This record gives sequence, structure tokens and C-alpha cells, in this order.
Amino acid sequence: MEKKSVAIVGGGLGGLTVGYRLAKNGYEVNIFEKEKDLGGLVASFQIEGHWLEKSYHHIFKTDRAIIGLIRELGLENKLEWQESKVGIYYNQRLYPFTTPMDLIRFEPLPIIDRIRMGLVGLLLQKDGRWQKYIEQTAEEWMKKYGGERGYKVVWEPLLKGKFHDWHDKVSMAWLWARIHTRGNSKDKDGKERLGYLRGGFGQMVKKLAEEITKAGGKIDTGEKVEEKELTNRYGTVISTRPGKGIDYLGAITMVFCSRQKLSNYYWHNINELGAPFLALIEHTNFVDKKDYGGKEIYYLGTYAPHNHKYFKMTDDEIEKEWFGYLKTMFKDFSREMVERSFIFRFKYAQHVVGTDYQRRLSGEKEEKNIHRLNFSQIFPEDRGMNYAVTRAEELAKRIIEKEKCSTG
Ligand SMILES: Cc1cc2nc3c(=O)[nH]c(=O)nc-3n(C[C@H](O)[C@H](O)[C@H](O)COP(=O)(O)OP(=O)(O)OC[C@H]3O[C@@H](n4cnc5c(N)ncnc54)[C@H](O)[C@@H]3O)c2cc1C
Repeated sequence: MEKKSVAIVGGGLGGLTVGYRLAKNGYEVNIFEKEKDLGGLVASFQIEGHWLEKSYHHIFKTDRAIIGLIRELGLENKLEWQESKVGIYYNQRLYPFTTPMDLIRFEPLPIIDRIRMGLVGLLLQKDGRWQKYIEQTAEEWMKKYGGERGYKVVWEPLLKGKFHDWHDKVSMAWLWARIHTRGNSKDKDGKERLGYLRGGFGQMVKKLAEEITKAGGKIDTGEKVEEKELTNRYGTVISTRPGKGIDYLGAITMVFCSRQKLSNYYWHNINELGAPFLALIEHTNFVDKKDYGGKEIYYLGTYAPHNHKYFKMTDDEIEKEWFGYLKTMFKDFSREMVERSFIFRFKYAQHVVGTDYQRRLSGEKEEKNIHRLNFSQIFPEDRGMNYAVTRAEELAKRIIEKEKCSTG
């Protein structure tokens, strides 16, 4: 058995980053990815000859670990920041929802609730003590402090759309993290700018894989493996597989390119209960459409439990339902203008972060020689590429230091 050999289960961003760092530090790295392509949740595909993520991706200014890695990989010149433009679709109308003034003008809520929501947002941005929110549900807390009406219009559709039957179990610490992190990622001018790697985050995946191979590492795709079968052959095993004892939702995305422009917003939250998708993303309101042959690129996306109809319906059936709803949102929407469309399903896309989450996580003990590096360990922040990179860097450091101690 090679002393410094490492097997990594999973070729998503977490597995690739830890593999890259260890390979660069003299370890013999072997990555096993069950799919034929690398990237996991940030895997890419080709649309009209251009690479694009199968699910919408951007980063925040506070995502320091991934920004650092982008720089290290020599991709910094491709990282661009654009002002975010958010809209809320509620009661068959689109409302701007980017700035504090947008909230003040948000007609679906009485002015008193708009002020209350604004104050609650500010409080959560300033308050860094997330631990105190763990045992309260987001529903209870938001209803109590943000008000019943604000909860119904703004938060309930988000929680139901994302967590379905678990929506009333979600910890307030999770919602705290979303509001706190986002609120603090604004530039000095008070504007939020989101980052995108022109040409796609797939370039990171590709570059990491190249660097691993260059450093003597091996990457096997289309290889589904079990950690236990690797422990005899490798000194260290790192698993990025879904966590044990954790509930997960899947995600379904539809990507289409069209000759038609529908909106001026980048991100549209669909705050109508019963809508078939949770978000509409007009990617080409964020990234220049020149990058996609002048076509508009859209994502529709939602989360769903594993027994949901979207995991049984055909792509055509989903497309029909979703385009039907899009037509109710935009009367001018024309199916004829859509040139290509793709449906993607991700089984393990979002972990359910209930008020008992920390107890559940602590049940996932590290076994001898097997390190766990799955995104369900990220708490209270929502899973995100930055955290995959952060945790991968931390784990690599731990492994390298332990090795140094035992040999030194
Ligand atoms: C719809 C959606 C939108 C998102 N948007 C953003 C965003 O805007 N910004 C952001 O920062 N993040 C976003 N994310 C989250 C981000 O994509 C993830 O946090 C990150 O990619 C997770 O990386 P990972 O390596 O931890 O996990 P994964 O990407 O899940 O990688 C795990 C890998 O392990 C493989 N695997 C599992 N079992 C086995 C096995 N037995 N053998 C071999 N291989 C196995 C899987 O196939 C997978 O490739 C989004 C996610 C989704 C679903």
C-alpha cells in the first residue's frame, strides 16, 4: 500500500479541489466519478456550441476561497462582476426587488410590513450570532419578527418551493445565513455585484482536472465506487458522496435558448404558491449574449423531493407544463422562438437543514482513513461552490499537516 496514496470519491468541485491540493503536495491522487463528466452540481454541457452550467451559477464578492482558486488557476481575467437585477413575480405581476427602495415600493405588502421586513433584514445582516437561531424554525421566527403578511408573500413561497413538506422544519440559522451573507457582500456603493466566469465555471473544473493529471494524479469517470472497497488499496479515502442520515431534495432545471428577450431582470423569484418552478433566470441579462451566438439563454429551476412527479415525467411533459406557466407570466412568450431546450435532474441537490441539523451532522462520524467532504456538512450557510472549495482546502491542509507530524 502506497503511504501517500489518496482515493477521492466524487469529481465535483469539492473532490477536484482537494485532489488538486493534495496532488500538488506530492500525494498520489485517484479520483473516481460515477458520471461520465466531471463537475457534479456544477457540471456543464454545450448549448449552440458554447459551454454552460446545467444549473445557474454565480458567486458573491465574499466568496474569497473560490476567488482565490480562480486566481491561482490563472482564470482571473475571465471573472466578471455585474450588478444583480432581481424581480419578484407575485400575483401575476413582476416587481423589482433589488434595492431597499424596491422593498419600500413593494405594493403587495402594506407599508408597515415593508418597513418591518426592511428592519428585520438589517438586523440579520448586522447580527453575526447565528447559533441563537438554530433551534427556531425560519417560519416561526419570520412570522414573529417580520410579520405574518411578509412571511406569506416573501418567505413562504421560497421555503415551500425549496423544501416542500420540510418547509416548516427549516432552521432560522439557514435563512439567517442567506440574508446575512448576501447583505454583507455588497460593494461600498451599496450595490450587489455577482461574479461569473466568462466561458463558464466548467473552465475551473477542466483546469483542476488538468492540473491533477499534470501532477501525476488519475481521474476515472464513469466509475461508481464504495469507500470501503478503497480503504485497503489507499492510505487515505475522501468521500464527497451525500451524507448519511441527511434528507436531500433533488433539483430540476430547464435551459433554453431563444431569439426572444422576456425581461430586464437577471433573477426572478416566482412567489406564487403552486407555480411549477421556483426561479426564472435570464442568464443573458447577466452575461453578454455575444457569448452564446447572440441568443438569449434562460434557466427555469425548482427543487423537488425524490418521489416528486418531476422525477417520473418525461422531458417533454415537464417542458409543456413549464412553458405553459411561462406563457401566463409573459403573454408574448413564443415557443416558436425557442431554438433548443434541455432538462436536467440532480438527485442530491439540497440538504434539508432542520432545527435538529447539527445533531444529525454530528452523527456522521469520520471512520478510520475515510474523510467526509460532502456539502451537507456546510452549515448554516447554504451549499455553494465557495464552501466546497473552503472545506476542500481545509481538509487538504489537515491531511498534509498530519502527514508532516507523523513523518517529522
Ligand atoms: C440548482 C443549483 C444551483 C446552484 N447555484 C449555485 C450558485 O449560484 N453559486 C454557488 O456557489 N453554488 C451553487 N450551487 C451549489 C454548487 O453547485 C455546489 O455547492 C457545489 O458544486 C458542490 O460541490 P461538491 O463537490 O461538494 O458536490 P457535488 O457537486 O454533488 O459532487 C459530488 C460528486 O460525487 C459523485 N458521486 C456520488 N456518489 C459517487 C460514487 N458512489 N462514486 C463515484 N462518484 C460519486 C457525484 O456524481 C458528484 O459528481 C447550486 C446548486 C444547484 C443544485
